[in-house]
Amino acid sequence: MSDSYLSDRSKRIDASGIRKVFALAAELEDPINFSIGQPDFDVPEALKRQAIEAIERGFNRYSQTMGERQLCEAIATDVQKVTTWSDPQVLTTSGVSGALLLAFMAVINPGDEIVTTDPYFVIYKHVINMLGGKCVFVDTYPDFQLPVEAFRQAITERTKMIVINSPSNPTGTVYSAEELQALAEVARSHDLIVMSDEIYEKFSYRPNYASMATYYDKTLLLRGFSKAYAMTGWRLGYAATHPCLKPLIEAMTKIQQYTFVCAPAPLQWGALTALEYDVTELVDQYRTKRDLLYDCLKGDFDLVKPEGAFYAFVPVPGGRDATRFVKEAIANNVLVIPGNVFSERDTHFRISYATSNEKIEQGAEILCRLARQG
Ligand code: PMP
Repeated sequence: MSDSYLSDRSKRIDASGIRKVFALAAELEDPINFSIGQPDFDVPEALKRQAIEAIERGFNRYSQTMGERQLCEAIATDVQKVTTWSDPQVLTTSGVSGALLLAFMAVINPGDEIVTTDPYFVIYKHVINMLGGKCVFVDTYPDFQLPVEAFRQAITERTKMIVINSPSNPTGTVYSAEELQALAEVARSHDLIVMSDEIYEKFSYRPNYASMATYYDKTLLLRGFSKAYAMTGWRLGYAATHPCLKPLIEAMTKIQQYTFVCAPAPLQWGALTALEYDVTELVDQYRTKRDLLYDCLKGDFDLVKPEGAFYAFVPVPGGRDATRFVKEAIANNVLVIPGNVFSERDTHFRISYATSNEKIEQGAEILCRLARQG
């Protein structure tokens, strides 16, 4: 049967390159898996207990579309720690992925332009394309800092929104307060919304993590529970705005009513406990992993030291094609993701170091050997 019944929309997107490597992983015996974007620890016990109790106490029905009232209030209090917003508007979502889909659906008309960085988080490009929008990429190679002037130049009459992600997947870059303030000025001068994907906010190895929401009221702040509490399967995140963007949150809530309905209801009680849970120790372990990986690789790869998340975006030496290098790495039992999954270029590969220190050392040694082989 032909696939002529499929929508044009569905044909505009390609299967996730990460999933393809995931599938390859299933065929290898005990691979060194640097491909997955989730922590190697389990959900902390206290949060599991809270979710189990919620199920046992019968919180198994739909929640309000925007989420359980107590959770929304706790999220609003958290958002107020980084903003001066008197009454943050909150929508609890099915992961940050859910919030991204709702936000892009609420904002994009066909032909609208969204300005974001290259490299970018893979969902942005595909969802924007699926909705008939156009991604305008601002090249951030080789150091992945925010090139604010290039953002200014990328803005046209069709620009609807700027999208940033710090700490970044795939580069591990964390933007400074100065960079964010400069970008806020650009956005303000064009009266544009900035979507700030801060899902890795807890994983910042810089002393002072800066949020776009601190500097710009027209920020659509996206944060989530997947990464810091290792609950990627629970599907919980949120969107928050200043009251001036209330129409945006309302539009997203309306779309949620007809799509996701609500974020997983009993698990929202686990998320409520998560907001009070201290992850400093876990994050310190990840800083150590970052240092270990960087020290193992720096002799053979000219990589930028990542400052957040749990990724390194590493240039393939000698200008070799990244996809070819990644195939060689996989043939040697090390799973990494080619840069062209996250970029219009194919010069780098992404390592997720969310694995044991032993695996980091073993995997880095193999990658260094491949780099030296040329
Ligand atoms: N944004 C970024 C930058 C991510 O890396 C991810 C997960 N890989 C997400 C959003 C979505 O995460 P989730 O849907 O699990 O909250």
